[in-house]
Amino acid sequence: MWDLVIVGAGPVGLAAAIEARRAGLNAVVLEKGTIVHTLYRWPKETVFFSEAKNIEIGGHPFPSPFAKPTRREALQYYRRVAENEALNIRTYTEVTGIYPELAHFRVGYRDRDGESELKSRFVLVATGYYDNPNRLGVPGENLPHVRYGLDETLPYWNQRVAVVGGSNSAVEAALELYRAGAVVTVVHHGAEIRPGVKYWLKPDFENRVKEGAIRLLLNAQVVEITPREVVLQQEIAEEKAVHRLPSDFVLIHIGYKAADGLLRAAKVAYCGDAPVLSDSYETSIKGLFVAGSAGYGSDTRTVFIENGREHARRAVLEMAFRMQKRLT
Ligand SMILES: Cc1cc2nc3c(=O)[nH]c(=O)nc-3n(C[C@H](O)[C@H](O)[C@H](O)COP(=O)(O)OP(=O)(O)OC[C@H]3O[C@@H](n4cnc5c(N)ncnc54)[C@H](O)[C@@H]3O)c2cc1C
Repeated sequence: MWDLVIVGAGPVGLAAAIEARRAGLNAVVLEKGTIVHTLYRWPKETVFFSEAKNIEIGGHPFPSPFAKPTRREALQYYRRVAENEALNIRTYTEVTGIYPELAHFRVGYRDRDGESELKSRFVLVATGYYDNPNRLGVPGENLPHVRYGLDETLPYWNQRVAVVGGSNSAVEAALELYRAGAVVTVVHHGAEIRPGVKYWLKPDFENRVKEGAIRLLLNAQVVEITPREVVLQQEIAEEKAVHRLPSDFVLIHIGYKAADGLLRAAKVAYCGDAPVLSDSYETSIKGLFVAGSAGYGSDTRTVFIENGREHARRAVLEMAFRMQKRLT
């Protein structure tokens, strides 16, 4: 029997594993992809908005030569920390169910050998939100040329790309695509691009729009996607008009919502779209904790690595305290 099963080897799950090891808990991390799989899936050239020290885990210094570290540096950093801490991580192992028993949990998982279970006193879910992008809910959004997120830009060279969204990831994708030779139109339902867009991206983007290198359609609602067009309802001077935007690819960047399948199936209490959590990030089910954005539903803008790692620390301290007192 494990003391702790951690679901997800993102920065928050890794931070929890380090805390657990230091507190003397026998912990294992189950990760459905590779280590820091979310960061691995980000656009290749992503630069963090956080400074390196704010995304460090376990007190291990993150020496980046830049004010803001790059994705590539972070991939290396987290991997090296996990190695140095000798964390017990099982990659390519997807947790499929968390089953509360009287004094422990059964944790169902699927790996290359098939389905199996572990037993653990505590479970901490740190699954983030990146697997669960918001969807437009319009006809055509499942067509093969419609994509959620951007990794490589080369496939879009010389293509007409509609980027739907008005926040960081949409703006970043639009700039990268434009610089990779795509013909980019950003479609946003709001009256302006979100003011919180990274301060080094916003002026770049606005200047590209001003000079006509990137087209920006505001107050524009996508109503349908066809193999060759994005159909928009656009409000101009209080008049609604249907606009058909020729597009070879459509990239949707309209935010995320933490997946809730595991927690709801375990019968965790929810308030709205987020689980009810105690000060130590415990759910309504004793012994089942959630750290990082996995516990915040669609509120993915207020929880980052910086505060997520603190959730992990508080949760593990509570578990260690109970282990000492034998209060599982
Ligand atoms: C482009 C971009 C830039 C960002 N920049 C910053 C930044 O500068 N600073 C910052 O603090 N945050 C930033 N963020 C947010 C950051 O990605 C998240 O805050 C961070 O990844 C959260 O860490 P986490 O460990 O909670 O979740 P994640 O990193 O998403 O890790 C969750 C892990 O759980 C795994 N998983 C999911 N379901 C299961 C399952 N059923 N079984 C097993 N494993 C599972 C996933 O594969 C994943 O590896 C950015 C996000 C994006 C998209």
